[in-house]
This record gives sequence, structure tokens and C-alpha cells, in this order.
Amino acid sequence: MTTSDAPAHPLSLWHDDPTLVPFRSTPLGGDIDVDVAIIGAGYTGLWTAYFLLKANPKLSVAIVEAQTVGYGASGRNGGWCSALFPASMKKISSLSSRDEAIRLQRTMNASIAEMGSIVKSEKIDCEWKQGGYVSLARNEAQLVRSRNEVAGWNSWGFGDEHLSFLSASEASERANATNVLGGTYTPNCAAIQPAKLASELARVVEKLGATIYERTTVTRIGDRRLDTDRGTVTADVVIRATEGFTAEFPQFHRAIIPMYSLMVATEPLPAKTWDAIGLAERETFSDKRHLRIYGQRTGDGRFAFGGRGAPYHYGSKVSPAFDIDDGVHDMLRGILRELFPAIGDAEFTHAWGGNLGIPRDWYPSVTFDRATGFGQAGGYVGDGVSTAFVAAKTLAAEILDTESDLRTLPWVGRHSPNWEIEPLRWLGVNAVTQAFAQSDRDEARTGRPAGIAKAVWTMIGH
Ligand SMILES: Cc1cc2nc3c(=O)[nH]c(=O)nc-3n(C[C@H](O)[C@H](O)[C@H](O)COP(=O)(O)OP(=O)(O)OC[C@H]3O[C@@H](n4cnc5c(N)ncnc54)[C@H](O)[C@@H]3O)c2cc1C
Repeated sequence: MTTSDAPAHPLSLWHDDPTLVPFRSTPLGGDIDVDVAIIGAGYTGLWTAYFLLKANPKLSVAIVEAQTVGYGASGRNGGWCSALFPASMKKISSLSSRDEAIRLQRTMNASIAEMGSIVKSEKIDCEWKQGGYVSLARNEAQLVRSRNEVAGWNSWGFGDEHLSFLSASEASERANATNVLGGTYTPNCAAIQPAKLASELARVVEKLGATIYERTTVTRIGDRRLDTDRGTVTADVVIRATEGFTAEFPQFHRAIIPMYSLMVATEPLPAKTWDAIGLAERETFSDKRHLRIYGQRTGDGRFAFGGRGAPYHYGSKVSPAFDIDDGVHDMLRGILRELFPAIGDAEFTHAWGGNLGIPRDWYPSVTFDRATGFGQAGGYVGDGVSTAFVAAKTLAAEILDTESDLRTLPWVGRHSPNWEIEPLRWLGVNAVTQAFAQSDRDEARTGRPAGIAKAVWTMIGH
């Protein structure tokens, strides 16, 4: 298992933060038997333990983590706690109903305030600030998409409380980037320091009674049993919460592919630079290009900025070596400077990356089989901060068999198809990345929506 290889470079800006108090625990020290065993101490695993123990403090819950709490995407991400759900309303409704698709999105929207209130009540210091999310239109094609997006949401019964159209001046007032023609805004997003959320949540979960075994790699998932490099865990319930690492388990090799998303960060910027840029509410931001970019103004006044574009690695391989890609990191620095020339010659202090998990139909799922005691949640396609929270709450209700509207949401109990075998998987996934990059270039040049990107989005099911 490559999960036991630790990277030589700092994991992320967030881990390099002197105000972070990393959670630390000892490895498994022999065989144990528990009620619930969870593989992976990211948000999915930690929140699942949280909701289980809140509902039933007597449960014995063990979380087995190959590295350290927040080692995966949960500690390294862009820090957007957004209400974005990766599958489109059209797709969700086609597999359930219009009402169910709306209910799912409303649940996602409500999850931001709900998570914010738990963060507050549990005294989780993760620099939480719900300033919303501004998405900029920086060419005509992106402006058309902004209008269409808002009109699309209106047709599903969502108004400004969900997404509003911004004129050029309204958008620039929030984020004074170059070439802004307009954009969209949603209040349903908070900026966070992700590694702090993982570490602090781990402490809360431990206090509630869970035991977290770090540096313990699960080598095989069996029937109500986990083999690890430190002993065996038997349990009534086994939960897989391994997202971008899932393909390392032979029986789930084609369930979820790991895609790398990379990030850079600047040094803290002076107040006058922020006066020129805006993001006064710490709004998270992006623009409407196809190859996604995302950024936030951090609690200590830096830009943390990321994007896709890194290749998918043959055979769904995962390696710390893929966290660094000079070409993509340079591209990200270039995009940020182009967006906000006001940063001048500010130094870029950090570059890192991590893997996120994509199911074949880009549709996350929560499943629990009472007959076998096995459950899982994931496939969040890079929108996992709030989605993992909702998934974990749902998993806890499933495991405990408690009444909850969450259990009938149209992502519970569904199974995505497997990915193709190689080399088709490698060819297909990297072709999609190339198509999006080319479409963005074409749209910037012509101002017209790129047909190829539209075709690819339709093929993916959006
Ligand atoms: C660079 C980047 C930026 C992102 N930005 C955002 C964002 O701004 N907003 C957003 O919503 N989402 C974002 N995401 C996605 C989001 O971070 C993830 O979807 C989410 O954190 C997944 O949480 P998880 O707990 O399911 O998985 P992870 O956090 O990946 O945790 C899985 C854990 O399982 C452990 N593990 C794996 N294999 C084994 C094994 N064999 N034995 C024991 N333990 C094992 C891993 O070490 C890891 O700690 C981003 C992702 C990346 C990589």
C-alpha cells in the first residue's frame, strides 16, 4: 500500500501553520474488537464517528488511519465549505424526481449553517467565515454561462438565497479581478482552515470516546474485519472513508479514481493590497472557466489558490510525488497574478496538492448494507467539505437505524458504475482534462461558448 509512504515536502500551507495544533495519537497496538471500525481519518471518517457517538455515547468506535489525521484531502483542500453537489440537478432528478433533487440541494444549502453552528458549539477553531462564494465571468462565454446558471436555478425554484447574478460592478466590488464582466454569488459558502478543522474535530471525537489509531494501514478489508500492519480489527460495522485512496484496495480498484488538485499560496499581503482586491468578507472565489480554479483569502491574509489540470496517473496510482507538479504550480501562480495584478511581486511561499475521488458518473454516494455491516461514503469530486458532513450524518443514521429524512435522499444506497479498465481509463480521463483546457483557451480568444466543453459536460452527464 503506497499510503504508508510519507511525502518529503510539507503537506500544505495549512499544515505549516504555527497556530495549528496537530492531533497526534499512537498506532494500533494489537488485535481489537469494536462496534464500528472506520478506515480513514478525514472528514468522512471523523464526522461519522462524531454523529455516531453523539447519538450513542456507549458505542465503541475505532478510526484507523494510515498516516495522520487530515493527511488526505481533508487537511489539504481549498477550504471552501460550499453547498456545491457534484451531480447536476438534471441528472439527480432523472434518477429520482424533481422534488428529490430539490430536497438534496436544500439539504446541502442548510448544511453550511448547520456545520457552522457545530463548529461554534464544539469550539472548533478552524477560522470559519461564511462570506459566500463569488464566481467571476471574465469573457463573454463565461457571462452567458453566469446568466444561464442563475436562470437554471430559478427554474428549479431557487432564488437569490441560492444564487444571484452580479453585474460587472457588483462582481468587481466583491473581487476586483481583471476583465470582470459580471458573475454570480451565493451566500452558501464558508472559508475555513481545513487542517485545523480535521485536527480539532479529531480532538472532539476522541473526547466523545472514539479511538483514533494513526500510522496504521489497513491492508485488507474483510467480512466485518480489517487486517492492518499493526493487528486485526474485528467490528460489527466497517466503514470505508478513503476517497482518493480507495483504488488501492483491489476489490474497489475501479470504484473511484484519484485525481490530483494542486494549490499555491502567497505570503500574507498588506492591508492596502487587500483594499485594492476586496474579498472583504473572505468570500471564496473562482471564475467560470471549465478547468476549475478556486481560491480564498486566508485568515492570516494570504491567497490560497488552486486548480485542476494535473494529469490522471495510469492505473489510478497514488503517490506523494504527484502532489508537486512544477508545470501546474507555475500555471496557477500565473493565473493568480493575471487575475489580481495588485499582488505585485508578492512571494509564493507554498505549493502542494492532494487527491480527490471521482466516481464514473460524477455522482457521490452513501451506502450501508446491514446484512454485511459494510458502509462507505465518498466520490465527492472535489466538493467534499460539506458533502462529507452530510454523508457522515446520513451514515450514522443508517448504522443506528434511526429515523431521518437524510436516509432517503437520492444519493443514499446508489452505486456508481465502475471505471473502464486501462488504458481506456487513462485515455478518457486525460482527454477530458485536455478538452476543458482547450475550451477555456478558445472561449478566452473568441468569447463564444465552446461546443467541445458542452459536449464533454453532457457526456459526463451534466
Ligand atoms: C487540493 C484539494 C483541494 C480541494 N478543495 C476543496 C474545497 O475547497 N472544498 C471542498 O468541498 N472540497 C475540496 N476538496 C475535496 C475535499 O477535500 C475532499 O472531498 C474531502 O476532504 C474528502 O474527505 P474524506 O474524509 O472522504 O477523504 P480524505 O480526506 O482523503 O481521507 C481519507 C483518509 O483515508 C486514509 N487512508 C487511505 N487508505 C488507507 C488505508 N489503507 N488504511 C488506513 N487509512 C487509509 C488516508 O490517509 C486519508 O487520511 C479538495 C481536494 C483537494 C485534493
